[in-house]
Amino acid sequence: MEHIENNEKYNGLTVNKGIPQPPSINPYLNKLRQKKKHFTPDEYVAGILRGDITLLSQAVTLVESSKTEHQLLAQEIIEKCLPYTGKSIRIGITGVPGAGKSTSIDTFGMHLLSQGKKLAVLAIDPSSERSRGSILGDKTRMEDLSVQKNAFIRPSPAAGSLGGVARKTRETIVLCEAAGFDTIFVETVGVGQSETAVHSMVDFFMLLQVPGTGDELQGIKRGIMELADGIVINKADGSNIEKAQLAQAQYRNALHLFPETQSGWTPIVLTYSGYYKTGISEIWEMVYQYIHFAKENGYFEHRRKEQSKYWMYETIHEQLKNHFFKNSDIQHDLKVMEKRVLNGEISSFVAAKAMLDNYFKE
Ligand code: GDP
Repeated sequence: MEHIENNEKYNGLTVNKGIPQPPSINPYLNKLRQKKKHFTPDEYVAGILRGDITLLSQAVTLVESSKTEHQLLAQEIIEKCLPYTGKSIRIGITGVPGAGKSTSIDTFGMHLLSQGKKLAVLAIDPSSERSRGSILGDKTRMEDLSVQKNAFIRPSPAAGSLGGVARKTRETIVLCEAAGFDTIFVETVGVGQSETAVHSMVDFFMLLQVPGTGDELQGIKRGIMELADGIVINKADGSNIEKAQLAQAQYRNALHLFPETQSGWTPIVLTYSGYYKTGISEIWEMVYQYIHFAKENGYFEHRRKEQSKYWMYETIHEQLKNHFFKNSDIQHDLKVMEKRVLNGEISSFVAAKAMLDNYFKE
């Protein structure tokens, strides 16, 4: 049967020339791949020393990585950066969630930048849910600071043991100092052991408090107060001013009851408002006054040396522990021994000793 479609001139059968489509693979892919090239330790160090933030960030990522090859590379970079470090002022900031740490770091940071300083903001937060989450993970917490080129904000290393997380932050301080940052903030949530870790890597430890019902002294651990070189009562604004002053008096009184500090410095208690930006210069006067005081009487150097010693031991503890727990025989034995301990077949000490003996025999 004759069909119009069978006629070769019928349009429906001709294939129209198509429009050329872009390739489905990005033609610049190779270029992008090349960009991610691995640098040598010397290239990293040269980049860091000239203040290249991209290389600094990549080096910090190596510090944070648990891969052995990254760790080796990171250690070499750190080693080579060490001669260029130590000149900054390191300040620890702690306070319970909501005390105004991010608001304060933003405000303090802008104040310091206006004085020509270069600021790195780091954090220690070993709790799994929060790391890379709220604490510094969200740069909107420091809106003004996060867009400044003289500020480097880095969230807490991912969850892990406190010792491990803190060691990474301490190594990051070295890299930041080599990159020319002259002021380092280390933030931590004032709820656990992490204050001690922060205290072991800073020159000045600031406790941020908020005025409450008048009995806030009961709420904070004595141990944390003993670590503080300065207590700053935030949110001293509006109807809070009187409460803040009352809290200030209470803290001052409480501090009198503490034994003299090792540095010989009497911690200062100040009120301020991070939100309304009042009382900021007094806080920085306090910090610089302390630094001057501690440098004069030799405590500054002493504290840094003690910290280096502390971190040597901490690193040994951490590496030994990791080496032990990563051992596959030990992992197997642990499961067996754990059951036996739970069943009351063997005591904890005997079980531990058996496994340690096994480990050290290897
Ligand atoms: P963080 O959890 O310690 O980092 O605390 P934030 O900085 O996120 O502050 C917690 C809340 O307190 C936020 O809603 C801030 O707006 C508020 N805040 C911070 N500083 C001040 C201040 O100086 N005055 C007042 N009134 N509110 C503040």
